[in-house]
Amino acid sequence: MNYCESCRLAAEGEVCPVCGGDLLRPVHGKDYCFLAEKEEMWAKMLQELLRNNHIPAALLPTLGAVVSLKSGQMERYQIFVPYASLEQAKALLQMAFGEERRSETRSAP
Ligand SMILES: [Zn+2]
Repeated sequence: MNYCESCRLAAEGEVCPVCGGDLLRPVHGKDYCFLAEKEEMWAKMLQELLRNNHIPAALLPTLGAVVSLKSGQMERYQIFVPYASLEQAKALLQMAFGEERRSETRSAP
C-alpha cells in the first residue's frame, strides 16, 4: 500500500486515484489516511466513536473546496485516521453508518 502526501490517501497502485500524482511512498502506520467525509454533526460523532475505540481522528473542514455549494449547506469535514487504525476505523464506520459513502458531493437535482 502506498501513500499520497498531498491527498493524505492510502492508495493501492503506483498512482494516486485522486490527484493522479505518482510521487507516492510506502504508507507508514502513523500516516493519516482519508476515512470519510461527513457533515459536521456526523463527523464529530464519528470522531467521538473512534476516540472511544482509542483511534485518534483528525477532522479537516472541506468548506471552500466544494465548487457548487448551496447556501445553507452544513459544513462538511473530512476525517483522517492513522493507517494502522484504518481498517478498524472502516469497520466502525460501517457499523455506525451502515455503509461507506465516500462521495456525497453529487449535485442535487
Ligand atoms: Zn493524491
